[in-house]
Amino acid sequence: MRAEILSIGTELLLGQIVDTNANYLAQQLPPLGLDLFYVSQVGDNLTRLAAAFRQAVDRSDVIITSGGLGPTEDDLTREAIADVFGEQPRVVPELEAHLREFFTRRGRPMPERNVKQATLIPSASVLPNPVGTAPGWWVERDGTVIASMPGVPHEMHKMWEEQVQPRLAQRISGGAIVSRILKLIGIGESNAEEVVGDLTHSINPTLATYAKPDGIHLRLTAKAATRAEAEALLDAFEPRVRARVHEWLYGTESDTLPLVVGAMLRERGLKLATAESATGGQLASLITEAPGASDYFVAGYVVYSAQAKRALGVSAETLERHGTVAQATTQALAAAARQRAGADVAVATTGNAGPGASEDKPVGVLHVVVDLDGHQLCSETRYSTTRTEYKRRGALDALYLLWRELKRDP
Ligand code: ATP
Ligand code: MG
Repeated sequence: MRAEILSIGTELLLGQIVDTNANYLAQQLPPLGLDLFYVSQVGDNLTRLAAAFRQAVDRSDVIITSGGLGPTEDDLTREAIADVFGEQPRVVPELEAHLREFFTRRGRPMPERNVKQATLIPSASVLPNPVGTAPGWWVERDGTVIASMPGVPHEMHKMWEEQVQPRLAQRISGGAIVSRILKLIGIGESNAEEVVGDLTHSINPTLATYAKPDGIHLRLTAKAATRAEAEALLDAFEPRVRARVHEWLYGTESDTLPLVVGAMLRERGLKLATAESATGGQLASLITEAPGASDYFVAGYVVYSAQAKRALGVSAETLERHGTVAQATTQALAAAARQRAGADVAVATTGNAGPGASEDKPVGVLHVVVDLDGHQLCSETRYSTTRTEYKRRGALDALYLLWRELKRDP
């Protein structure tokens, strides 16, 4: 089957954004057995967009689009598809109600122009969008499939994985393709590949490793005649993978490190505090990404100056002897934060994000200390990267150290 990708949006043609959606989708098609012949970008113009769809319908079996599903005048994907097929978009009352509810939950009235996001043509059905307002369209007509998804990358990814990919798999092979994700932290990509070793040569299920912002993801994918058979293949394969990576495995699918660490703290009734210098509050920010973090997160102190570190409870002597960036100072900071907040466990960070070295603080150094009831776990890492990336990775590594400490001592 011939596939084609259409990326919709004038921003793309102006070079203001990079077409990462097409790149993502292109990688997704070969495992489905789809041959990708064309990738195009079209601006927000009804005539040209309709022409692009007409051409795609003529030459391809499967057309996958992103963008142009928003509520505004220049979001024209639905209009263009309706035009090409000569069908009339109609408001679907259940969709409209659902959309209004989305706005009500946010305490805002729905702008009337959003109603067009609740429309369908007779050949289209809805692709639900649980993380945004714009539902996608799945259109089947005369043997051609069009799958239209929102432009916002994370919304598109989710819709692809949960809606479009399974439907295409079903349609193409008459069978099912099922994937599972295992998430690792504290191990690099090449190490992870070494550890899973020969399992990456497995043909069904397949195993692939991806370096992601939150660690390494292992994707296990099985193909079979039915979903149940594919699940059974995975049930047999997954334990073999887990056995190799259990040391670094923190979760699956939608698990995140903040959620996993939060669950461990909640389960054990432990209260957490942070004292951050190097990560400037990013660790507290990461921790509070988990819903209900107030159950266990007591306080996050950002203590940037020596004076602020003293005010939290680090002694003048410690600061004088070791300086502001040192393991001993970080240890004192963690202990001080734990006491000040009345918490059971505290995480502290000090370091130098650069770009310049200053005195005894080498560029890119990061000290993390986890203090659990006075038992301290320390780490020292050296990054050579931007300040933004230093803080992001530093916060993640600090959370990783906490996860390790909690795992060690159940
Ligand atoms: P919305 O409902 O948010 O308006 P939409 O379906 O109308 O979604 P667009 O308005 O086309 O989508 O794009 C929304 C944003 O998504 C863009 O500003 C851009 O940041 C991002 N985006 C759109 N298309 C792409 C693409 N092909 N690659 C990467 N990012 C994209
Ligand atoms: Mg838009």
